[in-house]
Amino acid sequence: MDFRLSEEQEALRESVRDFAREAVAPVIAEHYEQHTFPYEIVRQMGKMGLFGLPFPEEHGGMGGDYFALCLALEELARVDSSVAITLEAAVSLGAMPIFRFGTAAQQERWLPKLLSGEALAGFGLTEPGTGSDAGGTQTRAVLDPSTDEWVINGSKAFITNSGTDITALVTVTAVTGTNPDGSKELSTIIVPSGTPGFTVAPAYSKVGWNASDTHELTFDDCRVPAANLLGARGRGFAQFLRILDEGRIAIAALAVGLAQGCVDESVKYAKERQAFGQPIGNYQAIQFKIADMELKAHTARLAYYDAAARMLAGEPFKRQAAIAKLHASTVAVDNAREATQIHGGYGFMNEYPVARFWRDSKILEIGEGTSEVQRMIIARDLGM
Ligand SMILES: Cc1cc2nc3c(=O)[nH]c(=O)nc-3n(C[C@H](O)[C@H](O)[C@H](O)COP(=O)(O)OP(=O)(O)OC[C@H]3O[C@@H](n4cnc5c(N)ncnc54)[C@H](O)[C@@H]3O)c2cc1C
Repeated sequence: MDFRLSEEQEALRESVRDFAREAVAPVIAEHYEQHTFPYEIVRQMGKMGLFGLPFPEEHGGMGGDYFALCLALEELARVDSSVAITLEAAVSLGAMPIFRFGTAAQQERWLPKLLSGEALAGFGLTEPGTGSDAGGTQTRAVLDPSTDEWVINGSKAFITNSGTDITALVTVTAVTGTNPDGSKELSTIIVPSGTPGFTVAPAYSKVGWNASDTHELTFDDCRVPAANLLGARGRGFAQFLRILDEGRIAIAALAVGLAQGCVDESVKYAKERQAFGQPIGNYQAIQFKIADMELKAHTARLAYYDAAARMLAGEPFKRQAAIAKLHASTVAVDNAREATQIHGGYGFMNEYPVARFWRDSKILEIGEGTSEVQRMIIARDLGM
């Protein structure tokens, strides 16, 4: 067993760390406050190759793996989670389904722009009426044989990267029929931005992730060619389960980054802030808080390293990915709360990064499967 990173992995980690500190940190608070999407940061991440990290070079990727993506996400989230989730959703939810399940023509058309960061894609699974229970999907797609087109009707809720100026497409899950056992047949369909009948609602007003892009989408007799079906008809369930299993490792990495960022900020502040004649960091009560925060970030990191290692080795990793996501998101919320506490009143002021971390932490227990859903996955995998 070797938990140390290779030279190449260390170099990636360092370059993303430098980028986050030098290019993201100085401008992100303004984007967050104004609720604006950080196009310039996305452009620079594209130039660094971050959107192509886990994809082969023949598709325009960097030839790395999913763990490389996780390392990058951790370092970005250590400084800011809006930027990190933009990358996570673009890669693991946007480009990955096309890479994993798309036809050669779909890959050729979409992957070069998605992997360079020139364009973004959204992944539309959640609906206004159903999230955890994807079997409750109401969006329907009917094949019109006279035009060889899918006609899509329905809506999707909370879709990341779906309404930016550079969003090229969303993949949406839709009911396309009934399975022999009476259950819904779900399929995934690519809907390019600007398709008539596809409407993007104004951005949500969110508690956190304020510099990331999230919209409700509506499909009203929206027609796309039959060839826009992603993979085989009726494979929608299997496809999103795979995408979400992987995505949980990425979200865990992002959560570890946030948890570690809380440690970074707390150590710095505790050394500077004076109370009762000395830095608050001299008090054991503060030191123990920070020691516990470091312990939590470290153990959560080991959990996602383990899940990623199993996935890359081609072994079953569902349970470990759920454990990593559940643990890391809990730890992120814990650390954000404690970091805010250590900062006292300043922790409640938006100018301090820990205030942003606190607001950004809660969604980690909800998105890409709630903590309850992770527990369901773990229990099921234990045969219950
Ligand atoms: C900012 C943001 C970005 C997002 N981005 C995307 C995206 O890009 N694409 C996308 O498809 N979705 C996206 N989502 C949606 C997200 O994945 C869902 O919100 C999440 O899966 C939970 O679904 P829900 O909101 O419908 O909650 P529900 O499923 O309605 O759950 C409500 C509560 O009930 C609990 N619950 C449900 N079922 C059970 C059960 N059987 N046992 C015990 N408890 C249960 C849940 O854990 C939760 O606490 C995003 C959400 C947000 C807020």
